Amino acid sequence: MTQLGIAVLGSTGSVGTQTLAVIDHLSDRFRVVSLAAGTNTALLADQVRRFNPQIVVAKSLEPIADRRPLLSPTGLIDAATHPDVDIVVVATSGHDAIVATCKAIEAGKTIALANKETIVCAGDYIVPLARTHGVEIRTMDSEHSAIWQSIGNADPASIARLILTASGGPFRSASMADLANVTLAQAMAHPTWSMGAKITIDSATLMNKGLEIIEAHHLFDMDYEKIDVILHPQSIVHSMVEFLDFSTIAQLGLPDMRLPIQYALTFPDHLPSLSRPLNLVEIGTLTFEQPDETRFPALRIARQAGVSGGTYPTVLSAADDVAVGAFADGRIGFLDIVAVVEETIQRHESHAVTNLEVMAEADAWARQTAQRLVQRGTRSSRTAASQVSS
Ligand code: MG
Repeated sequence: MTQLGIAVLGSTGSVGTQTLAVIDHLSDRFRVVSLAAGTNTALLADQVRRFNPQIVVAKSLEPIADRRPLLSPTGLIDAATHPDVDIVVVATSGHDAIVATCKAIEAGKTIALANKETIVCAGDYIVPLARTHGVEIRTMDSEHSAIWQSIGNADPASIARLILTASGGPFRSASMADLANVTLAQAMAHPTWSMGAKITIDSATLMNKGLEIIEAHHLFDMDYEKIDVILHPQSIVHSMVEFLDFSTIAQLGLPDMRLPIQYALTFPDHLPSLSRPLNLVEIGTLTFEQPDETRFPALRIARQAGVSGGTYPTVLSAADDVAVGAFADGRIGFLDIVAVVEETIQRHESHAVTNLEVMAEADAWARQTAQRLVQRGTRSSRTAASQVSS
């Protein structure tokens, strides 16, 4: 069997390392052509020794395992468009790989997408680009993988709605007062999924699910009013599709990212995986709840940003990135994360995303604005604290 060549952009992150574990497991089918990472050069060096890729991309020109890397982000384009690459796994964080993803699409590469920002911020540009070039965008996001698998070969016109499931994160039952005092350690303790820091905090605010609503809109060309979210604390039902006849098809599995990662590589085949069998008898009970948008306004705000369109989703994503960083640094409280995002959006004047420059400008504006709001918030809470103490 000829092996498919894989480029892994973001190889040292949570999805990147799990992608390499899947490739290792299915090494008769896949081989690594390119590895690109950020600052974790020690792990990248291990990966280079293990997988011997043709292209290595890093954020400095220091040799990696005796190899001379290309410099990120321009090197990402070489990594993604190398002639031996068949599938580009986009597992970078933020906007680092958006240009490289577009170049890969133009070069006809299949895209396996784990990075939400790409589709949330640039969906209006990237989805039509992929259609023009006859390129598949295969999602590695577990919920969207579930929807993709549940739709199968059904006529998209026969879909009544998509039902995204959310674990609800660690604060599903917390009161507003509790939420105001959440610590970083508490926010990082996700009950079911093991993921990177940004997405774990986004799961605690439900902003992750808000971003996933926008992601689903683009990936499945679905109107926002046909995309619902329900809480499912066990994270076994990964999402569902309800058809016009009210038949509902769901995809189930253990919360293990290696499943959606592998399926994006092996589609349409389901092959033996590194996951474990799902034992529903052992799990016993699956429960579902309506999300509370008063305690978790991120769902409402993200949906509104999606419906409003243009650069609003970019501003949502960029402001959230800044606010999550500020929370992680202890500069703002947990409830301030979404408050900063909302206020940034309220100050924004949207433009149509006709090219990537429009998106980049909105992103920079949102980061600056959110940063100012964080500083103002920090100052006012300090003032409030000094007033209380004086
Ligand atoms: Mg997800």
